Amino acid sequence: MTSLPLADRYARFRSAVFSGVEEGLPGFDEPTTEMELQSLWFSGAFGSEFTTTDGKAVRIADFGVWNSGAGPDFNDCAIVIDDQTLRGDIELDPDARDWERHTHGANEAFNHVVLHLFLHAPEHRFFTRTSEHREVPQVLLRADMLPEGIKPKRRTASAHLGRCATPLRDMDDARVQSIIESAAQHRLELKSKRLHRSVAAQGREQAVYQALAQTLGYRKNQQPFAILAQRLPLKKITQLDAAKREAWLFGVSGFLEGVRSDDTEPATRSYLRQLWSEWWKLRESCGRWLEDRQLPRWKLNAIRPGNHPQRRLGALAAMLRSWKPIIAPLADATRWSQAAWRESLLVLTHEFWATHYTLLSDVAEKPVALIGETRVQEMLANVAYPLLVPERTRLWAEYLELPALLDNQKVRLAVQRLFGDDPRGNDFRKKLHQQQGLLQIYEDFCLEDDSACANCPFPERLKEWG
Ligand code: SF4
Repeated sequence: MTSLPLADRYARFRSAVFSGVEEGLPGFDEPTTEMELQSLWFSGAFGSEFTTTDGKAVRIADFGVWNSGAGPDFNDCAIVIDDQTLRGDIELDPDARDWERHTHGANEAFNHVVLHLFLHAPEHRFFTRTSEHREVPQVLLRADMLPEGIKPKRRTASAHLGRCATPLRDMDDARVQSIIESAAQHRLELKSKRLHRSVAAQGREQAVYQALAQTLGYRKNQQPFAILAQRLPLKKITQLDAAKREAWLFGVSGFLEGVRSDDTEPATRSYLRQLWSEWWKLRESCGRWLEDRQLPRWKLNAIRPGNHPQRRLGALAAMLRSWKPIIAPLADATRWSQAAWRESLLVLTHEFWATHYTLLSDVAEKPVALIGETRVQEMLANVAYPLLVPERTRLWAEYLELPALLDNQKVRLAVQRLFGDDPRGNDFRKKLHQQQGLLQIYEDFCLEDDSACANCPFPERLKEWG
């Protein structure tokens, strides 16, 4: 993968600014559920090479499949330890002692565990043993193994004119644009690193499928969409016909169980009958995932009808029906055509979801695009270009021309703080890369600052930007 030159410059600028400051990758004191940690592990976010608690190098050769029944969390995994490949299961617990607390050590179903992962360990060493008294290698996962960008949500900064607005006002357009573009390159590189780590763990198609599914989750439901894409991986879901696939998606999401047919309008009733006719056959094999604490945590408050996750799940089902034209252009950066890819998404439709927002809504007056321009832009910004630009840096020029996404609150705040009433503030947010650059500066500086700008190093450092 090739690095983008301006991204390096911004990274140096930023690291110099924060030298001596602990960057603070996420700590697990944050309210992260076991299921979310499993999802991070399974996507390869922690990496694939580790050192066991007794100092041996271990590599994950195959992350396996997420177990839908009783027993260890992941099955059919392969690890390489001491040049020896071990095949079996992987168990991930918040604390090493959960192995005994949950009596895994006496449970034969755990006899094939080849690796025990945990986030906390007691002061005195705890050994993981199976019911056959075999010692299981252990790996302690740490927050600093995660790539930058997977951070707990931070607060927003207040809307006031920043101290940097004065030096920025004195800078010519080209210099301001150069800083914003550098920050945008840096942001794209961070996204690329995360995505390519996921490619290394799961394979390119699965990583892209998961990333596209996450984009359908908007900001609030990215995690549930990631979990669905991991539990129902491409290699399994694409073997099913469309009806079974859709039943599986809606069943494992938990949406089917919560809807009473009598509460719905006739077209929905018929759609539900179709889903249930397949789901009841699949349901038993997904027992563990239907337990309350295992269901994806959908966030449904303050969601616009068009962004409801049920409708977005319908969009994912439609994408899977046309998967080949969506994935093929992402296989080779030299054959990429943005226009063709965009079109393959915009034409997607669905006989039910084109006219429904949720399973409980009435029929819409007229069909609504399943995946609109804004969603495609998000997919370009968060999946296609982060995947392809490091493989063909000439695509950066194409990325620069992408128009801005719909304005969001963070971009507005960043412009307000950095530019105030300087009319150039609006000019510097017309393109997608400008929005991305402003967001990066906002997150790197404004959200790290606790001094109402007084101690923020950004204004002083700006003077050194040639
Ligand atoms: S915190 Fe720094 S970057 Fe943000 S507005 Fe204040 S001076 Fe500018």
